[in-house]
Amino acid sequence: MRVLIALGSNKGDRRAFIKKAIYAIDNLEKTRVATISRIMPYEAWGPAIATFLNATAVLETSLHPLELLQHMQKIEYELHGRERPYKWGPRTIDLDILLIEDYVIEHPQLKVPHPYMTERIFVLEPACQIAPHWVHPTKRRTIKHLYHSLLRSFHTL
Ligand code: ADP
Ligand code: MG
Repeated sequence: MRVLIALGSNKGDRRAFIKKAIYAIDNLEKTRVATISRIMPYEAWGPAIATFLNATAVLETSLHPLELLQHMQKIEYELHGRERPYKWGPRTIDLDILLIEDYVIEHPQLKVPHPYMTERIFVLEPACQIAPHWVHPTKRRTIKHLYHSLLRSFHTL
């Protein structure tokens, strides 16, 4: 199963947290990290302070989607004790599942495609580096198309 994930950090040694998370995911059973984007800086929004570093990765896994999510949450906890003072505040590491093949999952703990991925440049830009032709199953558009649409929308507000 091919899975596209997003990684983000805006607290502490941000680059090290992203690299540690990639290493930990690659070490999961039945899972390997196939491709990694550049780690890119993005301005913080909301109550966060420091600039975010964001990246995306393509995984190859035979874990069940909910098992993968649980493993990723465990890695978040291990890296920062899940200290999350308030919603959208500073965070050492955030791991999100963006796409799993062309599946649509509506589970209380797991929504795939990730509901906000098409509105976030810090997701689509690195995703476009590694998975431009992957088709978003409900928008029925490629990542590349969605990325360029979002860029265009910034100039027509
Ligand atoms: P954010 O929405 O900013 O990433 P959190 O990381 O705190 O905020 O949200 C985690 C919650 O989101 C978890 O409880 C998890 O069950 C839920 N969730 C739903 N869909 C997804 C997904 N596609 N990837 C990761 N977490 C998800
Ligand atoms: Mg998250």
